[in-house]
This record gives sequence, C-alpha cells and structure tokens, in this order.
Amino acid sequence: MQAFTDVVGQNGAKQQLSSALLGERHVIIVGPPGVGKTTLAKNVAKLLPAATLMDCEYHCQPDKPMCAECLTKKSKPANIPGTDRFVRVQGSPDLTVEDLLGDIDPSKALQYGPTSKEAFTPGKIFKANQGVLFFDELNRCPEKLQNALLQVLEEGHATLGSHDVNIPANFIFIGTMNPEETAATEKLSDVFLDRFDVVKLSWPDNLQDELSIVHKHAQTFAQFPDKLLEATITFVRSLRDNKDLIKHPSVRASIGLYERASAHAQLHKRNVGAQDVAIVLASVLAHRIELKPSVQKTSEDFLEKAFEDFTHATPDLSGEGL
Ligand SMILES: [Zn+2]
Repeated sequence: MQAFTDVVGQNGAKQQLSSALLGERHVIIVGPPGVGKTTLAKNVAKLLPAATLMDCEYHCQPDKPMCAECLTKKSKPANIPGTDRFVRVQGSPDLTVEDLLGDIDPSKALQYGPTSKEAFTPGKIFKANQGVLFFDELNRCPEKLQNALLQVLEEGHATLGSHDVNIPANFIFIGTMNPEETAATEKLSDVFLDRFDVVKLSWPDNLQDELSIVHKHAQTFAQFPDKLLEATITFVRSLRDNKDLIKHPSVRASIGLYERASAHAQLHKRNVGAQDVAIVLASVLAHRIELKPSVQKTSEDFLEKAFEDFTHATPDLSGEGL
C-alpha cells in the first residue's frame, strides 16, 4: 500500500480506511492509545486532492455560494489544497456545541438581524466543508455535542439554538476512539454509531513492526543491543496477552522503555544491559497497566515478578555479556 506511509504496518486497517474514504463514508477509527490512529487520520489530509472552491471561510462551492461573504461577492474561486480542508478537533468534556458549530454575534445580530448569515460566527466544523473533519477522542465529548454533530451529518447544515443556520457542512468525518478508556467517556449512541463505519486498529501486528516504530520515534542515549531490545519489546508485547491485565501497555510504553533504559545506561557510561531495563521498568510501565481487582497485587510487584519470570525464560536477558 502506498497510502498512509507514516504508519508502520497495519495493512488491513489501511485498506479498510482507503475503501471507506473512496466511498466517501464517515469513519471511526477505534483502537488503543499509541497505535497510530491520529497519524493515520493526518495522512488522510495529504491524500485529499486540491479543489476549486470559494476562498471564503466556508469553502463554498463556486456554483452554490451560500455564505454572507460569497453572497456579497467578497470572495472568489481559488485552488484550495487538501491540507487547508482538514480540520482537527480535540474531543474533551468541555467542548461545547458553540465551539464546534459557531455562535450568533449579538452586535451583528442587532445590525443585520438575528437569523442573518452575517450575524453568525462559524465554528470549526465549517472550515472542513468539502474536506475532512477529524475528531480525536470522540467518546470524550458530551452527549449534547454528539447530537449536534449527528444533525449536521444527516442534514448537511446546522441548527444553533433556535436558529437554523443553513450553511453547508459537507465533509468526510473521521473520528477516533479508545475502547479501553473508561474515565470521562460517553457511550456513543446506537443512532450515532449507525452513521459510521468502524475501522479497528490494534497493537502492531508483529515484533518487527513494533521495533520499527521504536526505532522511528525513540531517542537513543546509549547503544541498545538488538537482542536485548527484541527481548524487552517481546516482554511488553507479552503483557498485552496477560489475562491478569485489564489495561495493557501501549506502543508508547515500548518507546518509553527504550528511551529510559538507554538514558540510564548513558548515566552510567555503558551500553544498555538488562539491569538498565529492570531499573526503569516500574517507572515506565506501572501506571500504564491495570490489574484485575482479583489479582490483589500492586502493579509494581506484578511487573517485578513478571519480568523476573520472563528474564529466566529468555537467554537474551539472563545471559552473560549484556
Ligand atoms: Zn462562501
């Protein structure tokens, strides 16, 4: 696959996303943190071709100008690159409908009338018109916002309070969602989900892909022997299959272990050894995992034991010379 080259591996998901975009479908990318959901969505902006649209705030279509700026002939057709029609919204519980859709400016409402297009200050959503609205962490938004968004997706325009703002908002929607996150998340309603296709991203398919990601993103402070690195990342990957865990270490944990063990070795002016990994293990991993309540251990104790067992079973960790 030539597309989405910023993300290592994940070929199945890349193909799903490609066909969804080709079919102009709205998509939610679901997956744990650090697997490349945001990177993948940002890659979409690069794929979006330039288009001839009005240079107004809404990128109106030249044959169907809708906004005040276009109707008063202040705008003109222009070649708008795809990256200018890619809008990113960060989902959070504080995000309001006004942030997303826009607001009525009271002084302009007096001047032009409350339902006039001039009185309307557009929110972020309209800048994605004829492009892509990328909504990160969709399930961290209040339900009210989901409903407002749903209406825009269904009708192609927005209602703000009592005002039906008939301004085009025609875009491909790409949301991301982390299924493991439970705190401060809203369940997406069935009606909402029915508007989307879901593309699932998971942990890197294999050790090689994860090593490539680590090499691509991590800083090196001291030489990390290949065999030791492979064993270290294999340990992180083994935790993802551990039945005692309900929250699993992300790819950021692998990158973190690499950087911390390598920095620790540099402090001691040596190449990275198994002891460097062991010493930073809890600091990097303990808060990134969560044990089942029935396990009755602290994350630190659990990790110490798990790493000890793993070390004994792994010659590259327990052997001499490292
Ligand atoms: Zn316009």
